[in-house]
Amino acid sequence: MAKKKKRYSVLGNTPLTAQERVSRYMRGNKSKNTQPELRLRRALWQNGLRGYRIHWKNLPGKPDVCYPGRKLAIFLHGCFWHRCPHCLPAMPKTNLPFWAEKFTRNQERDRQNREKLKAAGWQVLVIWACQLQQDLEGCLFTIKALHAGVPESYWLEAA
Ligand SMILES: [Zn+2]
Repeated sequence: MAKKKKRYSVLGNTPLTAQERVSRYMRGNKSKNTQPELRLRRALWQNGLRGYRIHWKNLPGKPDVCYPGRKLAIFLHGCFWHRCPHCLPAMPKTNLPFWAEKFTRNQERDRQNREKLKAAGWQVLVIWACQLQQDLEGCLFTIKALHAGVPESYWLEAA
């Protein structure tokens, strides 16, 4: 069984060409229900933080998770695509101007979405994929607090 699975592995060990890597990044940006998202949602569910909506179209930027009743929006950002300030992912080695412009646009769009949400009275939490990976408990702790109504400003001041 395991052998068969391996034989049909999508990626194998063949190195990707630059173009394939770019395609993969592009797909990664668009894809929903990524592994970190599923992990976060499972953890929320297990911690009794239910009743969330995912990729809710009614909100700017369609946050990965939101609690309309609590006006709490959570973005789970991929580190590469959204340019994580914590793990500082390396820039692509080719087509640098293309990527630099794209990243700038992404970051600007992220910022605008956050501002629109805040202007509409939402609390906005950004969780980076690396944070979720390294400290799921810490992420849950923050989400629980926001969900319970502790204002986000408290966290900003405490940080
Ligand atoms: Zn990161």
